[in-house]
Amino acid sequence: MTENQLRESLAMFGRSLYERGYAHGSSGNLSVRLPDGLLVTPTNSCLGRLDPAKVAKLDRAGNHVSGDKPSKEGFLHLAMYEARESAQAIVHLHCTHCVAVSCLKHADASNVLPPITAYHVMRIGRLPLIPYHRPGDRALAEAVRDKAKKHHAVLLANHGPVVAGKSLEDAVYNAEEMEETAKLHLLLTGRETRYLDAARIADLEAHFPS
Ligand code: ZN
Repeated sequence: MTENQLRESLAMFGRSLYERGYAHGSSGNLSVRLPDGLLVTPTNSCLGRLDPAKVAKLDRAGNHVSGDKPSKEGFLHLAMYEARESAQAIVHLHCTHCVAVSCLKHADASNVLPPITAYHVMRIGRLPLIPYHRPGDRALAEAVRDKAKKHHAVLLANHGPVVAGKSLEDAVYNAEEMEETAKLHLLLTGRETRYLDAARIADLEAHFPS
């Protein structure tokens, strides 16, 4: 895709996420990798009303090159791209059910959503929780970078998910799958639940390698 097509794509997926309630107000931000840097949605912008021409462009070091001022959370995206060569796009949302799960006390922070469905296993897999950091705290980038070496999706405590994909469409679908699983997880809380066992997860990983 050309840079202009990627800009249009950011606006299209941003609007779709906003209109379906995955983002509210000016929350959430999207980015795509370019050969010479990345495009990231502007600070204080509403994902439902992005102007493709004003999407911020950063160089590989994260310097602002053109467009509106980038999201204050752009450093999270940079950390994920630096840790994962395969990441071509990143979605960060404050979507309700994922945020709810991010606020729960978890006995095992290395995986905070259970293997309820095959689709969650295939699109997300193990989901680590990253401890709470105040917005803008650069230590959060280091924590994301560390976990992103092994995970294309992480959940920030009391905040929301950061999810990478092989394309923007793939990253959006991954984020949507996580939100659906979070919703199911909350619906099932307190009910006796049959999760996918280790053999079924291994079978999925063999049939659908990521
Ligand atoms: Zn955020």
